Amino acid sequence: MKNTIVTKFGGSSLASSEQFRKVKSIVTSNKDRRFVVPSAPGKRDSKDYKITDLLYLCNAHVKTSIPFDDVFKLIEERYCSIVRDLSIDIDINIPLEKIKEDIKNGASADYAASRGEYLNGLILAKYLEYEFIDAAEIIVFNEGGTYDQEKTKIKVEERLSKVKNAVIPGFYGANEEGEIVAFSRGGSDVTGSIIAASINASLYENWTDVSGFLMADPRIVDNPKAIEKITYKELRELSYMGASVLHEEAIFPVREAGIYINIKNTNRPEDPGTLIVDDIQDVKNHGKITGVAGRKDFTVIAIEKALMNSELGFTRRILSILESYGISYENMPSGIDTVSLVIADSQLKNKKDKVVEEIKRQCSPDSIDVYPNMAVIATVGRGMAKATGVAAVLFSALAKANINVRMIDQGSSEMNILVGVATSDFEKAVNAIYAAFEK
Ligand code: ASP
Repeated sequence: MKNTIVTKFGGSSLASSEQFRKVKSIVTSNKDRRFVVPSAPGKRDSKDYKITDLLYLCNAHVKTSIPFDDVFKLIEERYCSIVRDLSIDIDINIPLEKIKEDIKNGASADYAASRGEYLNGLILAKYLEYEFIDAAEIIVFNEGGTYDQEKTKIKVEERLSKVKNAVIPGFYGANEEGEIVAFSRGGSDVTGSIIAASINASLYENWTDVSGFLMADPRIVDNPKAIEKITYKELRELSYMGASVLHEEAIFPVREAGIYINIKNTNRPEDPGTLIVDDIQDVKNHGKITGVAGRKDFTVIAIEKALMNSELGFTRRILSILESYGISYENMPSGIDTVSLVIADSQLKNKKDKVVEEIKRQCSPDSIDVYPNMAVIATVGRGMAKATGVAAVLFSALAKANINVRMIDQGSSEMNILVGVATSDFEKAVNAIYAAFEK
């Protein structure tokens, strides 16, 4: 659909009547914003509750036969105050009472949680004077609880082609029996992406409480610059950093359909935010990086064996050992006679000694060393590919900061360089890399 923007608002953008006002002014300032996907009300300040959390809590109370009236009251109060402050002509107590009754009668956790978006959708539709379309009608899950892309596309296309403007609550859909199924937490992002892809929208806007992605974590780097444009591939490489802004699964539907995502800030709509574009964009920032992100809590298992490169099936044996223990690895840099496994500690949990023993038994390495407390840092940028001297800048910055690099891995697209450093050097390393490229 031409000139059609799918606009998703996150929980903090719809947490109070004041936020609803901002949302209305954003939506009405561009007539292309035809389809709006709301989350449930989020926190108004750091001590507040998210409505979704309260709904899950109600469901948990019922399961353990504990009264949930007090918790539900908080939910009622939030919605009632929004409706009252904005003088919206809707009797929100009617759906609230039904939901309370359903939860009391043992409705599923997915149903309970989804009602946060459902109620917010009803209110927002009335406030914007848009049609309300229940996501349960158009977002289809199959029997196993997985999302059905084909059926959804047909339903969304058909239903939305008949309306000019609509509000469709995020986070849930229904299976063919009509039972509500929710996405994982933060899933309204996914709903917005699915709707944008299904109708081939001109843009998917994702409004939140930050002005897009920053080049580095602001808790580590002082005042990092915002990223104006990033490709889908770069975002995947920086997923350590992006996960808190956008649900990981929200990328795929729009990426496949060639639709861009604009991350915007409801509280600062004039900021350009970050535009996520396809992977064949012109490289204008030659030799520059797009961002640097990393994570702690990795272990490196370094394996050495003479003539490893000519021993058939060596790596396969290592990987089947990991598979048999249900462990997925993060990276596997290798040399001619060495290979290292970089594995998140959460994956290794109580299995480290057993895995090491098994590698010794099946692969007879000359040596196997385990390095705990590692951090992995990804320096990412489409401008790095085919540019000379990028690695030199990066490694001299680390050397100058006196940081020992334990592991290096360059992605095959030449778009990212991963380094492994001691956890205690993590913050220092991120700062050194950022400063080297963004003076
Ligand atoms: N309200 C849901 C959650 O808190 C979904 C969302 O906000 O996207 O996870």
